[in-house]
Amino acid sequence: MDYLEGEGWINPRIVPYEPISLDPAAMVFHYGQSVFEGLKAYRTEDERILLFRPEKNLQRLNRSSDRLSIPAIDEEKVLGYLKEFLKLEKDWIPTAEGTSLYIRPFIFATEPNLSVAPSKAYTFMVILSPVGSYYAEGIHPVGIYVENSYTRAVRGGTGTAKTAGNYSAAYKAQERATEMGQSQVLWLDGVEKKYIEEVGSMNVFFKINGEVVTPALNGSILEGITRMSILELLKSWGMNVSERRISMEEIYQAYEAGQLEEAFGTGTAAVISPVGELNWDGRKMVINDRQTGPLSKKLYDTLTGIQTGRLDDPFNWTTEIK
Ligand code: PMP
Repeated sequence: MDYLEGEGWINPRIVPYEPISLDPAAMVFHYGQSVFEGLKAYRTEDERILLFRPEKNLQRLNRSSDRLSIPAIDEEKVLGYLKEFLKLEKDWIPTAEGTSLYIRPFIFATEPNLSVAPSKAYTFMVILSPVGSYYAEGIHPVGIYVENSYTRAVRGGTGTAKTAGNYSAAYKAQERATEMGQSQVLWLDGVEKKYIEEVGSMNVFFKINGEVVTPALNGSILEGITRMSILELLKSWGMNVSERRISMEEIYQAYEAGQLEEAFGTGTAAVISPVGELNWDGRKMVINDRQTGPLSKKLYDTLTGIQTGRLDDPFNWTTEIK
């Protein structure tokens, strides 16, 4: 659908996947006014269609839009369109173990105008694609490079928004990680380069001496929906959990003391991604012998169980499409 000043969001439609045309002066090309989301639909063994907390994605989309001066969408209407579409195209959702239909809603500025001001016109689109299992060969721990010089986001910036510029700001560090044979970047705070923020497309958790910790939301971290769900799960299991400031020094000292039991990332794509190795300032920390720890495994099995309808959903996280 499209947005025009004075008319609001208009003309919702389903069209075949094909290239779109935009004016070369469309403001998104020049000033990066765009936001996006990512969520998944699952088809259960008994042919039910489940979405995982879709209202959270649409709320976050509107929060991102607000930060980028993009007009809000009607969350209920959009969820309604999405449900209608999935009902029509149920067969798009794959059924093999670990597979799902990835849903990518996004909004971008279309007004042709080279002045630096919020666009007066936008397009909201949703593209959908079946995705395979993130872990083709079973869940396995990843290596992480801790970035010490580049900054992805600072407080008051756009770090809490899912907007294009945050990701292109991360490419240089990702290149370094790849050169070092590591698959992900761990970002530190933009001011002191001391406190842990998040991984490239995941939030991060550590299990230190029995306590599970994750960086508190501080105005520059993305509020991950998997993160929020993992926190609720851990609390429901009676575990000792805290959201607080965590420095790399604390992690290193816990490692040296043999108290860094597990580390894992959380996000829609991988759900849980155990961390096998952390590389910080020339220091290498091998975690849990590069094996998937029992907590990571239990969280992965529980969350994917709820998402795919194999397990009960005591939290009412899934939305069934009927
Ligand atoms: N941080 C960043 C920067 C991300 O791109 C993502 C993926 N959306 C996450 C964290 C994890 O968020 P979620 O659990 O909602 O997928």
